[in-house]
Amino acid sequence: MSTRRNEILKELGLWPVWRLRGPPAADNTAEATIPGIAGASPAIVSRSRSAGASPTVDALSGSAGASPAFQKRSPSVAGGAPALPLDPRAAEFMGMDWPQLKASVAGCTACPLHKDRNKTVFGVGDEQAEWLFIGEGPGADEDAQGEPFVGQAGKLLDNMLAAIGLKRGKNVYIANTVKCRPPGNRNPEPLEAAQCEPYLHRQIELIRPKLIVALGKVAAVNLLKREASVASLRGKVLAYQGTPLIITYHPAYLLRSLPDKAKAWEDLCFAVETMKNL
Ligand code: SF4
Repeated sequence: MSTRRNEILKELGLWPVWRLRGPPAADNTAEATIPGIAGASPAIVSRSRSAGASPTVDALSGSAGASPAFQKRSPSVAGGAPALPLDPRAAEFMGMDWPQLKASVAGCTACPLHKDRNKTVFGVGDEQAEWLFIGEGPGADEDAQGEPFVGQAGKLLDNMLAAIGLKRGKNVYIANTVKCRPPGNRNPEPLEAAQCEPYLHRQIELIRPKLIVALGKVAAVNLLKREASVASLRGKVLAYQGTPLIITYHPAYLLRSLPDKAKAWEDLCFAVETMKNL
């Protein structure tokens, strides 16, 4: 592991890191131990899944069945529950290219959140990315700059990405479930999230990511359409409109809850392993 990466992990409070003690155990369950053991290699937390096996998808969570418009890179989650009925607004956005979609968001007044926004926050990154990270909605910094995950939470997210060898804008796209800032940094209302969701659908259609990582409970609940805690959703490969979905904590939450940084690191390692198998 590089010195730079070690520094990032220490900054994240993720030190010592998880490492394999040796070859995977006979039951194919990764064994976690501390660094410094000769011959150790970085471990991925496998949570009792068979090494090399394709991640299983919790088809009960989210819409595992992709609509015809959602042609995924990975066939691993094809089939399952049918996609949600197409929203009339979603139909409006189908066929839009990036410039058209961005223009539509910039002028959107479809929900009350448009009244207090300074800038819409469309999303940022590699428009052909394999990784899509989704948060809940813009905060004050994002509203001012028009970019998701800036400020302290954004810095932490960038460090989390760097810890697994990723970089904002390079094979990574970052978006939110709503494109306008909820006043006072409250959570988006269900109606607001529902009105904004067709934009996210179209972004996913255009990006065609291999894996989505939802950051925080609000994003997870809005994507999965069911109430659940992050703790109960972690460590599973779920699905959103046919794309594999993993849940972890929101960076803003991690800034307030340092002990959970280690869990977020586990989730990122799990995501890396999942991606390898897609
Ligand atoms: Fe439109 Fe979404 Fe902004 Fe609401 S949050 S006004 S639906 S862009």
